[in-house]
Amino acid sequence: MSTVSETPVAPFVPELGIVPSWLEEQTAMLKRAHRAGRVPHALLIHEAPGAGGEWLAFFSAQLVLCQHPERAPCGACVACRRVAALQHPDLTSVRPQGTSQQIRIEQVRDLCAELALTSHAAGGYKVGILAPADALNRFAANALLKTLEEPPQRTLLMLVASQPSRLPPTILSRCQRLRVRAPSREQALGWLLRTRGAGEWNAALDLLGEAPMLAVQADAAEVAAIGAESRRALEELLVGEADPVAVSERWARSQWPLRLLCFENWLTEKLRRAGNASGFLTELRDGPYLSERGTFLNIRELFRLIDEVRELRATLDAPLNRGLAVEALLRRLAPAKRARNGVREG
Ligand SMILES: [Zn+2]
Repeated sequence: MSTVSETPVAPFVPELGIVPSWLEEQTAMLKRAHRAGRVPHALLIHEAPGAGGEWLAFFSAQLVLCQHPERAPCGACVACRRVAALQHPDLTSVRPQGTSQQIRIEQVRDLCAELALTSHAAGGYKVGILAPADALNRFAANALLKTLEEPPQRTLLMLVASQPSRLPPTILSRCQRLRVRAPSREQALGWLLRTRGAGEWNAALDLLGEAPMLAVQADAAEVAAIGAESRRALEELLVGEADPVAVSERWARSQWPLRLLCFENWLTEKLRRAGNASGFLTELRDGPYLSERGTFLNIRELFRLIDEVRELRATLDAPLNRGLAVEALLRRLAPAKRARNGVREG
């Protein structure tokens, strides 16, 4: 298994049999809906990044496709095992392909055509999973509308998104919503230990945030190493000892999502520390500067940077533009630039 990749070819479905403790409420709710014959046609699973939205989608697929409805998902029947192996003929999973960060219109058309066919099991379900659904481009989203407006009988279409606001309102209004919040550190660590055994999970989560489903796909030691390297580069940039061009080129080339996550977490941490050191709200003006080991970053600038890093994380961009975009942000950490922005050295 490799470090978190940008566009995995296949979704990673870890241990469907072990329900993560922070998803117990959602799984119980879905089971009740299934027993009552009230499973919605379309479900929007709004997840905190890496909190298990896709896991929940595959759990739901097992739930409706299991051959033992009375104790679904049993996890042991042919249907359940095929879902877990991503080989069920009535389940279609759609995600960005190759180097693309987008789900394309052709992929959505194929999915809709597949959902319109009859199930391989008599009277059975057809299931579609779009993840991440916020990677649907405008045309692809439009192509999905007809199926959402007139869903075929016994269809379950699930959209997994961490930023549903990027989807058109016409799509959102036709889906029932299910929220998946980030687990506590304790819950995330407990689940990682159960599914993958001992490892540097705490260090990996320090970097990834409370995103166990990202951590579980990663080599924890490698994630920790990239985290340490990225943080070192940021600290060096802050004192003018690193070259923003070289750093941004390196970041754009490899482990882009992970690097940006490091950047965001690093900024958030600076902000938190600044808040602890000097009374958070009183420092929200442009004048005063916050000190830390002889360097100063203005709180307003920190907020701005965090917003821009988040925006960058959400953009579906080519590697070349990524490098330039992150370089512009990294330059703002450099001492000379900070002085010009009214954020000065001390
Ligand atoms: Zn089963």
